[in-house]
Amino acid sequence: MRTPVIAGNWKLFKTADEAATLVSGLIPLVKDTTGVEIVIAPVFTVLDRVSKLTAGTPVKLSAQDCFWEEEGAFTGEISPKMLRDAGCSHVIIGHSERRQYFGETDETVNKKTKAAIAAGLTAIVCVGETLKEREDGIMNDVLKRQVTKGLEGLSSFQAIIVAYEPVWAIGTGKTASDEQAQDAHKYIRQVIKETFGSAPAESTRILYGGSVKPENVKGLMTQPDIDGALVGGASLKADSFGAIVNFGK
Ligand code: 13P
Repeated sequence: MRTPVIAGNWKLFKTADEAATLVSGLIPLVKDTTGVEIVIAPVFTVLDRVSKLTAGTPVKLSAQDCFWEEEGAFTGEISPKMLRDAGCSHVIIGHSERRQYFGETDETVNKKTKAAIAAGLTAIVCVGETLKEREDGIMNDVLKRQVTKGLEGLSSFQAIIVAYEPVWAIGTGKTASDEQAQDAHKYIRQVIKETFGSAPAESTRILYGGSVKPENVKGLMTQPDIDGALVGGASLKADSFGAIVNFGK
């Protein structure tokens, strides 16, 4: 039994006051929600403030990235240990925007993932193909490479969540159809099984991300291999994110 996860990736949005307003609006909408793990991922600078607001609520806190070293001369970086210190339980790793704009590779994703789980964080590891890769017929190769390299050498999958985010569906309003998403999730689960074994394949939550909205979340969530959603734009408003979290009601 995989507990569904609904995670909100705020990306580069919300100052501290704006974040506080959003969280204060969200908490009453989700405080009685059961059976769903709720996660929000604000920018680094507001984590500490948001963690004070989410303390004692079901809303868990995630960062959007981390470095792989614990500390040292690495100007501008933030370590998993520091994220824990700021109140995080989760961290997003390898988002396609980081791969596209900031040189993230399968190797850096792997190092960050290992460091995150060693520090006691749950890693939300993102994979997904571009439109060109899908059209060129290499989507499965890309997903297989990202999953096997990104998760290589892990001794446990307990603190791993995988997020399938087709790049062409992110911020475009073009959601993958329920069937397209299910096919990709099933394939990812198959790759996990072949590479890491049946137990991690069965237990690992695989989230779908890419233009998830209150209107399409239900259909996605009824697919057997979709265990939740990683939500961008629709997580920036309390009412829409609240509605997505409450997809089952
Ligand atoms: P949108 O929901 O805005 O398409 O973003 C998805 C995403 O990238 C979440 O990480």
